Amino acid sequence: MAYLGSPSATREIINKYSFAFQKKFGQNFLIDANVLKNIIDAAQITKDDFVLEIGPGIGTMTQYLCEAAGHVMAVEIDKMLIPILQETLSAYDNVEIMNQDVLKVDIKSLVEEKNDGKPMKVVANLPYYITTPIIMELFESGVPIESITIMVQKEVADRMQTGPGSKDYGALSLAVQYYAEAKVMLHVSAQCFMPRPNVDSAVIKLTRHKKPTVEVKDEKRMFQIIRASFNQRRKTLVNGLKNSPELSFSKEEILKAIAAIGKPETIRGEALTLEEFAKLSNELGK
Ligand code: SAM
Repeated sequence: MAYLGSPSATREIINKYSFAFQKKFGQNFLIDANVLKNIIDAAQITKDDFVLEIGPGIGTMTQYLCEAAGHVMAVEIDKMLIPILQETLSAYDNVEIMNQDVLKVDIKSLVEEKNDGKPMKVVANLPYYITTPIIMELFESGVPIESITIMVQKEVADRMQTGPGSKDYGALSLAVQYYAEAKVMLHVSAQCFMPRPNVDSAVIKLTRHKKPTVEVKDEKRMFQIIRASFNQRRKTLVNGLKNSPELSFSKEEILKAIAAIGKPETIRGEALTLEEFAKLSNELGK
């Protein structure tokens, strides 16, 4: 039975191993059993699932995952947590612990090897300092994924769901919306963690689209255009694209493509929807 997930159980194990929290690894451990149950429910984990957990910490959520899933792969960067995980997960035979920086793991080969290439589910209470690179890596590397259910900073969850007109709209919003349907599943207050973070959190579920919702001929070019547009938010779209070291279109070519999608010369990138970025990218590729 999962026995972590309370302030007293967490304190006990931390004291036993004289564990010191590392701020640089974004270590805020969950201490609320209701939140843990809600995350597992939101992720809809079943015994058929292979789950990747990023950053298991002392194994609090991992215990719940082991009980719900077929197999769990838990990737933890901090070697001081490994002996703790060996103890807290000793009752489960369906978990593997990997001591590694998740950004250095070849997740595609891992899923190929461990799950016969079938789509996996990712569940994590993410270290906030690397939320964006982790999500981008998971989507862009073409790893077979069914869904990603993650705890993130509340503002990041907002950024993933928003559209043109909001100051939070950016490259992350567009990437998430291109690859997945994003839905906030629950809000989590700072007091559900030890130690308490300075920010509020939210659990967001990203369910991968079976088929992309927009038609784009060259994904890589579309994301280069998106990045160029938001790198220089205050500039017009034409200047943002012209100044990008990743792109080599002339001002005339860019203006022609902007006109072809029915937008004025003065438009800024932040005013375009995902569909319009896809059209612009297709026009520039002609
Ligand atoms: N899952 C635990 C929980 O909910 O209580 C811990 C969550 S804590 C917010 C984030 C965890 O990710 C920490 O255990 C931290 O050491 C780990 N971590 C940080 N950076 C990592 C990385 N690059 N790769 C793998 N794990 C990482």
